[in-house]
Amino acid sequence: MKNYKIPKEKRKIIFSALYWIIGLGVIFILPQFLLNLQTKEIPYAQFKRLVEERRILYALISKEEIKGLLYNGPREGLEALHETLSSMEGGGDESSLEVMVKKIKGAISANADVTIFRTIRIDDPKLIELLDRAKIDYSGAQESFMSQFFWSTFVPILFWVGLWFLLIRAMGRPGAGLLSIGRSKAKIAMEEDTGVKFDDVAGCEEAKEELKEVVAFLKDPERFRKLGAQIPKGVLLFGPPGTGKTLLARALAGEAGVPFYSISGSEFVEMFVGVGAARVRDLFNQAKQNAPCIIFIDEIDAIGKFRSGAFSMGGHEEREQTLNQLLVEMDGFEPNIEVILLAATNRPEVLDPALMRPGRFDRQVILDAPDVNGREAILKVHSKGKPLHDDVDLHKIALRTPGFSGADLANLMNEAALLAARLNCQSIRQEHLEEAVEKVLTGPERKSRRLRENERKRVAYHEAGHAIVAYFCPTAPTVAKISIIPRGKAALGYTLQLPEEEQFLLTKSELKDKICVSLGGRIAEEEVFGEPSSGAQNDLEVATEIARSMVMRFGMTDEIGPVALSKETSPFLNVPVFDEPHTNISPELMALVDKAVKEIIEEEKARATSIIRDNIDKLKDVAEKLLVQEVMSEDEFKEIVGLKEE
Ligand code: ADP
Ligand code: MG
Ligand code: ZN
Repeated sequence: MKNYKIPKEKRKIIFSALYWIIGLGVIFILPQFLLNLQTKEIPYAQFKRLVEERRILYALISKEEIKGLLYNGPREGLEALHETLSSMEGGGDESSLEVMVKKIKGAISANADVTIFRTIRIDDPKLIELLDRAKIDYSGAQESFMSQFFWSTFVPILFWVGLWFLLIRAMGRPGAGLLSIGRSKAKIAMEEDTGVKFDDVAGCEEAKEELKEVVAFLKDPERFRKLGAQIPKGVLLFGPPGTGKTLLARALAGEAGVPFYSISGSEFVEMFVGVGAARVRDLFNQAKQNAPCIIFIDEIDAIGKFRSGAFSMGGHEEREQTLNQLLVEMDGFEPNIEVILLAATNRPEVLDPALMRPGRFDRQVILDAPDVNGREAILKVHSKGKPLHDDVDLHKIALRTPGFSGADLANLMNEAALLAARLNCQSIRQEHLEEAVEKVLTGPERKSRRLRENERKRVAYHEAGHAIVAYFCPTAPTVAKISIIPRGKAALGYTLQLPEEEQFLLTKSELKDKICVSLGGRIAEEEVFGEPSSGAQNDLEVATEIARSMVMRFGMTDEIGPVALSKETSPFLNVPVFDEPHTNISPELMALVDKAVKEIIEEEKARATSIIRDNIDKLKDVAEKLLVQEVMSEDEFKEIVGLKEE
């Protein structure tokens, strides 16, 4: 960018204008500032308590805050004060609060303990009810002319002029980042009682089971404390969109009967630097004063992304500050405070590992797309209050909807009801449900996920292939779960392998086994259907990457020897970023590398093929069972393949 200079005369004009603006600013801001000095800042929870004690004499409610009059003197004087006040004319703006204080002091005594208070407003539907019950005068704030002018005319002018200046200056500086400016959208919402119970969430029994402990703790913390039991501070809910993460968090609060504070991570982005962090501080302060309670941060991935390392290009400061504040607050929790932090994300892989450290989100609960029985249960939940005809068979509908999330099923039920209503039926019939399935399926997002029967079969054999090969590779971790329920766009099914304990090093044979397992899916397809499909693309990438690392980074082949030809550039150990080769590798050496990689892959391919051929019957049994029940647990799998022969 060129270095623009503003002509001298023009600069003079700008500067004298600036002095004017600063001068006016002082005139307008100073009274506001002095007013603020006299007001007493109190937390919302304390405000509520004061309302109940009728110590709040008058409340002025505006969008962002609540101001009003507070009495701190002895109780006897209280009722007299309320009377004096109701005989006075209530104002509607801030300057009249001052006037009211003066009038009260005039009417009662000059040293009556009446002050102006201020508190941050929280979305609380019960507030008005509370004020009415305590018979306290309140009104909505009407901004005074001065402050209206100040905010609607003066501040914007100041803002734009300031922005212009910043831009001009930023243009002159090399490498200046873009200024990201937005408005604070983040709002803390509080619900006294969410009204949702665990029964309203279906098809995720394991997740509920894990959360029951938290409920028990919130209900009776003493019992846990007496035994010195450590309760998780933070629970992270993982799962694809629409699987009921938000719902489950609310159900947890409802079940425990505690208030639910929530804020959404995506609302934090695009704010002025510092605002997000302040909001986090607010949120935790409010919650601590209302313990026991639950704090829920939805879509935490928006703030919890990896903090960028030294190579940061800038522009993430706001998010980083917010994340840091969150970590500080979590660490600052005293263990005896009954506040549980819940967070939800559908992209766990982008979260900063620091969030998952012990003492932070150390408990993780996975919500997956529901299986057949889960889907039936969810349909049942959502058919509550909807009359179903006798011919309805929810199990059949569940069978037809693999890959549907809870949100999709709720949508399906609603579509069926709409259809029945349109046709003037008294109840929902099976045909309505079936038509609704079609409708949801052909919705814009879902088209790609609709598997044909022969595709489903391919996926089943592919996953069974991974599982069988994993089973017969001596060092491969055990198969914990196989699923052919589609997830997201890429994966049509998956085989989950869990190592028995955490691993920090991988030996050569373990790496080779990993390659072998990756190839297993494709080989099974080849053996059963005669040709591979495009579904194995990701597996091949994994296999190739491991083989390349073995050759170039770990020096595990005889041709190249123990030489490191490339190094890892990722700042995080657990992220397999493929690395830059050293630039001084000759083409001849590179050809050797390619040959070595190919050799490893070919060798593992041969091994996987012979495993599949030797166990083709078991492969078929596993695949056919998968086609019926979609998911298979470790035990079911072992039952089919039999015990490992040592
Ligand atoms: P997420 O937060 O995981 O994206 P939500 O909790 O917002 O999903 O779910 C959206 C809606 O889908 C819920 O309000 C509920 O009606 C329905 N839903 C999702 N999962 C379930 C479930 N397991 N049981 C019952 N209803 C569900
Ligand atoms: Mg959600
Ligand atoms: Zn695969």
